[in-house]
Amino acid sequence: QSLFAAVEMAPRDPILGLNEQFNADPNPAKVNLGVGVYYDENGKLPLLKCVATAEKQLVEAAKPRGYLPIDGIAVYDKAVQGLVFGAAHEAVTSGRIATVQGLGGTGGLKIGADFLKRLNPAAKVLISDPSWENHRALFTNAGFAVEAYPYYDAAARGIDFVAMLAALQAAPAGTIVVLHACCHNPTGYDLSPVQWLQVIEVLKSRQLVPFLDMAYQGFGQGIAEDGAVIERFLEAGIDFFVSTSFSKSFSLYGERVGALSVVCESKDEAARVLSQLKIVIRTNYSNPPTFGAQVVATVLTTPALRALWEEELAGMRVRIKAMRELLVTKLKAAGVKEDLSFITRQQGMFSYSGLNAAQMQRLRGEFGIYGVDSGRICVAALNEHNIGAVAKAMAAVV
Ligand code: PMP
Repeated sequence: QSLFAAVEMAPRDPILGLNEQFNADPNPAKVNLGVGVYYDENGKLPLLKCVATAEKQLVEAAKPRGYLPIDGIAVYDKAVQGLVFGAAHEAVTSGRIATVQGLGGTGGLKIGADFLKRLNPAAKVLISDPSWENHRALFTNAGFAVEAYPYYDAAARGIDFVAMLAALQAAPAGTIVVLHACCHNPTGYDLSPVQWLQVIEVLKSRQLVPFLDMAYQGFGQGIAEDGAVIERFLEAGIDFFVSTSFSKSFSLYGERVGALSVVCESKDEAARVLSQLKIVIRTNYSNPPTFGAQVVATVLTTPALRALWEEELAGMRVRIKAMRELLVTKLKAAGVKEDLSFITRQQGMFSYSGLNAAQMQRLRGEFGIYGVDSGRICVAALNEHNIGAVAKAMAAVV
């Protein structure tokens, strides 16, 4: 009897499964809108110029690769704090934020989840309904009971804010609340600034633990504009967690560059929290890799490269917005009569199209257009060449 005889086949990742199906499809006109990746106007994954320049500098000044500190490159961690919280903010200058380098945004979330489990093993985790599919699995695997708070309102094409707030109000003290800082994945619907203030008020008064997932800073309104929500949390004077991902904003998916920041009450508290985060890291993968974080740190701390990055990120943001507008125009031209303004109200890489699973399956089967059965399409994978066919196919299935 083999040791593994009783091992069951785990279900396939739904989105990676979709990719496999896409790759196997012989249709020459096929379009992959299932991915969570930004493609440029030619349908190619970009290598940002700021990244290529920083890489070249790093390669030319090649250094031996010793182990990094457990919490990562100090200059990188500092640059992350500057970007996320503002370098001059009291919370940063007083040293009351603990920041560690992580393996992408996922790594940041996982370090935070493991730390929280040790801190408060009985706490419950609340994620949005729906949420990035890995949130539930990640916090469940960290040992938490995970539940969802209402978020998407299909009929209203927006957020069921009243129900969301009521769910937060009803949550027991200590509940960990995972919030998308901007560009909600999968729906594309973000809270308004006023709604954020209301949420923060409830989080504070109910003594809930906010965990902000910031995977798309710069893809909504702009780097500073998207970061403003973090400032509101700082102003509220509560302790909170922020995971950062540079996968999208630097187009560095495979380098696994991210971070976790924990905002504490004092420098002393942050030092103790940091020491615990380091134990989580040490016992998981010991210490992080060097290259991607060096690239990001170089870009963020070199003024000319930083300016170039901001320009390139703005280019991605503007192109996505243009694709949203063009999609609306083309859908209307293809005869769709309903109000499509929700498509341009949404932010970030995704759009909940409002199509149901049967319609998404028809898009795949009849037109070779691959989106997620939930109706999610990646707007960042649309371009001038494929958008006409996508709009026609969508119009045909509604
Ligand atoms: N959070 C959200 C909301 C995401 O959409 C993603 C990536 N799709 C992540 C976290 C993970 O990012 P990373 O690839 O950097 O781990």
